[in-house]
Amino acid sequence: MGKPNSFKDLIKPAPQVVAPKLTGSILKPGMTTEQFLAQKVKQKELERFCNNQRCPLCDAQLDGGVHPGEARLFCRANPEEYTCVFTPNMLEPVNSSIRISYDCNQYEVLHFRTQSGSYINSVFVIDLTMRVDLRHKFKKKMFDFEGSRLIIPKTTTETGLLSKLKTYIIFS
Ligand SMILES: [Zn+2]
Repeated sequence: MGKPNSFKDLIKPAPQVVAPKLTGSILKPGMTTEQFLAQKVKQKELERFCNNQRCPLCDAQLDGGVHPGEARLFCRANPEEYTCVFTPNMLEPVNSSIRISYDCNQYEVLHFRTQSGSYINSVFVIDLTMRVDLRHKFKKKMFDFEGSRLIIPKTTTETGLLSKLKTYIIFS
């Protein structure tokens, strides 16, 4: 009892750093071996980059799928609160979204990167008292503004958030 069956059982597995999973085949018909290997390197680089990214709301690791051309990631602790898409050689996501929920309302901010490197931030309010399947259908856009990505710290109260958003509404 409690006796290891083999030498292998004595070795504790190292703490796992979870890499976003490699999904889908990247070997396409007609692709040369060089092209295939170059894509693999690109994908590995993107994977390494993605492993270092964190959720800006809770600092959790991100999970998702990494392909040679893009990575679609989400917060591991709460997939709803943060999603993002990275492309190779970009330090900032091409688009991302955050959602922060209170008792009756959820606030959603969609960020879209522009050619100039700024972001269009689109802010929506979602009524959480509505039926789940209707919530997104009836979400209301509050406003759009261009600037840096609007990230709402998790500790923000709803009153605090609304007064912050008001300052953006004035300038949008
Ligand atoms: Zn998170």
